[in-house]
Amino acid sequence: MASPEFNLAFEPSYGQAVPVAPGVQRITVHNPSAFTFHGTNSYIVGHGSVAVIDPGPEDEGHFQALTAALAGREVTHIFVSHTHRDHSPLSRRVQAATGAQIVAQGPHRAARPLHQGEINPFAESSDLDFRPDIAIEDGDTIEGDGWSLTGVLTPGHTANHAAFALEGTGILFSGDHVMGWATSIVAPPDGSMSDYMTSLDKLIERHDRILLPGHGGPVRKPISFMRALKTHRRMRERALLDRIHAGDRNIADMVKVIYRETDPRLHGAAALSVLAHIEDLVERGEIETDGPPALLGSYRPATRR
Ligand SMILES: [Zn+2]
Repeated sequence: MASPEFNLAFEPSYGQAVPVAPGVQRITVHNPSAFTFHGTNSYIVGHGSVAVIDPGPEDEGHFQALTAALAGREVTHIFVSHTHRDHSPLSRRVQAATGAQIVAQGPHRAARPLHQGEINPFAESSDLDFRPDIAIEDGDTIEGDGWSLTGVLTPGHTANHAAFALEGTGILFSGDHVMGWATSIVAPPDGSMSDYMTSLDKLIERHDRILLPGHGGPVRKPISFMRALKTHRRMRERALLDRIHAGDRNIADMVKVIYRETDPRLHGAAALSVLAHIEDLVERGEIETDGPPALLGSYRPATRR
């Protein structure tokens, strides 16, 4: 089985509300980067009175574009997939302007506590001030005017990541958990590989028809795509175990080999991704280290096997 078929064809149409499904519009923020592709997608759901999903970063241009697209329509709810700064901060301003209630799994939190001496590489990119008005639980449905959205909790990219299913349409707003243009970043301490894999399985079993992600275009064959994502992660894990069995002891050496075809500017992120796999492998008893798994830790094959 080959790697997932990523789709890099995407026209951001910055500032425009692009119809992507009946009753669903997408507005892409002008914040392109190696991590955000062409930018963050905000979605407007409904006709008369609407929900906004992932208002985006604190960005004046985007706030103006969103306000223009809403064109006087009532906003009753603001859904937030997770608390990275490219998704959640503008929720406060949209709320101040509209009085809408903010719906999310919860405030930002890491998947595990920080180890002694560990610094959180995501402290800067996380929206630590975020507080939802409605803490949505798995399976909770919020009814709006002609739409209802159900929370599908999908931890992994962040501990508080949620996808939202638009009932009766087969549409799932998948946030940064599943995106068509690239794999999701899963990096400790905010992210957890075992949670991510469990969340992938959960979505595969749902049989949604189409995913509308936080970056890039729709994922139109979600099941085969997500199965390929799983295979891709398992292959990475296998490559990592092979490196450890071949004698590599630290993450930097493993990254050099496993990510030799990746832009070196992304090697820092790659190292965190390797750490995420390593945490999972240590947990499952496949490899060993001294103390908690860390970026600068030393790793060896498990002796008991
Ligand atoms: Zn994002």
